[in-house]
Amino acid sequence: MPNSGQHQSPTLCKQNTLGIIGGMSWESTQTYYRLINEGVRERLGGLHSAELLIHSLDFSPIETLQMQGDWDAMGDILADSGLRLKQAGATGLLIATNTMHKVADAVTKATGLPLIHIADATTNAIKQAGLTKIALLGTQFTMTQDFYKQRLIDAGLSVMIPNDREREDVHRIIYDELCQGQIIDASRQRYIQIIKRLAENGAQGVILGCTEIGLLISQADSPIPVFDTTVIHAQTGVDFLLAQNA
Ligand code: GLU
Repeated sequence: MPNSGQHQSPTLCKQNTLGIIGGMSWESTQTYYRLINEGVRERLGGLHSAELLIHSLDFSPIETLQMQGDWDAMGDILADSGLRLKQAGATGLLIATNTMHKVADAVTKATGLPLIHIADATTNAIKQAGLTKIALLGTQFTMTQDFYKQRLIDAGLSVMIPNDREREDVHRIIYDELCQGQIIDASRQRYIQIIKRLAENGAQGVILGCTEIGLLISQADSPIPVFDTTVIHAQTGVDFLLAQNA
């Protein structure tokens, strides 16, 4: 007997093709892959899965360029990745990391394709939850630079970031542990301590603003609502894929 869902007319299940620029790190790209496929199955049922193209970059040279601050070179690499995805048939793009949205404009300019921006998707989720004062955890780049934070502020949110020592720990744990597949309980406790302090200082919710933090922290660990950017971004990807079925 065929599974339910196989009987749906193919025209009812027409999908856009989403191109994912991933590998930064692959530990979170695989989460995107699972979440987007689960989302499509939930909406279309049966054996349906996502029409995806993934270009997974080698993260090591990217991390070296981050340390050197050579964002132009990274813009070129991600723009080239976006063009390869476009040539392969992608009609929209998603950059599967918060930090690398610093070069989102270079990708949009090179490809002319719609790009699902992670900060905008997250802002929408926070606003839907009715929150205005939000803590932001991520890499030093994401927590301190304008390309991300200012986008949230421009959308009307008040953004709190950890203090210097907390930021150092949050950043170090991302690169030295999470991006290398190491999930360590002491690091989870440190994150919980930081979230609690930010909550005591007025944060109504916390953005897990790095796509690997969800590997360490879940809602059960936090006294305030968590906004996991990987989950939110993946859901927005599903909306894009299935927009023709809306
Ligand atoms: N995936 C992380 C993020 O969401 C950090 C790795 C990177 O620098 O891309 O920011």
